[in-house]
Amino acid sequence: MSLTVAIDGPAAAGKGTISKAVAAHFGFSHLDTGLLYRAVGRRTLQGLNPVEAAQTLTAEELEQGDLRTAEIAQAASKVAVVPEVRAALVDFQRAFARRAGGAVLDGRDIGTVICPNADIKLFVTASAEVRAERRFLELEAKGAEVTRDQVLTDVRERDARDSERSAAPMKAADDAILLDTSDLSIEAALAKAIEIIEKVRPTNP
Ligand code: C5P
Repeated sequence: MSLTVAIDGPAAAGKGTISKAVAAHFGFSHLDTGLLYRAVGRRTLQGLNPVEAAQTLTAEELEQGDLRTAEIAQAASKVAVVPEVRAALVDFQRAFARRAGGAVLDGRDIGTVICPNADIKLFVTASAEVRAERRFLELEAKGAEVTRDQVLTDVRERDARDSERSAAPMKAADDAILLDTSDLSIEAALAKAIEIIEKVRPTNP
């Protein structure tokens, strides 16, 4: 069986947590595609050209160091507007999506560009304020020195860049199911996601 689940949405909407938990629940492989852009972004902070960085990226780099910093997030969303960077990362993502046993990919353009034929598409969202608060608590727990206002500004800047770019902008696919997590606990959001997937998943693969 090869079942592909596409989970898109803006930063800190809960899609990463939901994707990881959904993959564990169904025994699917999981790829956080944001890490690809973050790894390319990190290389540009080290002085590399973004296109070259994307074309020579290795899977090992996704495991090295902390890619989830605010600085790398901004660098990621800057390299993500470059069409050649996106093109260099397509094959890896599509091959992952075809993994035997099922795959969950989360990102911004999975249901629209990378896997337009995905079996299940979710678009996970929440208000900018709720997302900024979640991200702030995450960063604070890691000891980062940031303020709530800075994080909200960052989230809004990234939303604008991600949804206004011309190359694969962030948007819900026409056939995606919307999941707004603004007023949901992570447990409730996850339960909803699982319920949606259960309905579509073939019972006897
Ligand atoms: O999801 P995450 O916050 O890790 O993504 C970092 C950045 O990578 C996003 O702000 C976005 O610009 C970019 N990205 C993308 N397409 C994806 C995943 C991430 O453009 N599929």
